[in-house]
Amino acid sequence: MTEQKRRCMVCGKPDPGEDSICPVCKALIRGEALDHQKQIKKDADRELHKEGSDPLKK
Ligand SMILES: [Zn+2]
Repeated sequence: MTEQKRRCMVCGKPDPGEDSICPVCKALIRGEALDHQKQIKKDADRELHKEGSDPLKK
């Protein structure tokens, strides 16, 4: 186990800095986060409806 060298957990590039994600990937994630969240929510809603479950009544 080499804990001295961290790697970006997104692209696997070594030395991502203080975080576990390198600045490039962090920027990408932040930039795409808004669009992705919308898309994910859409997909999740569709999945839930497909499954026939109601998250509001849980
Ligand atoms: Zn990265």
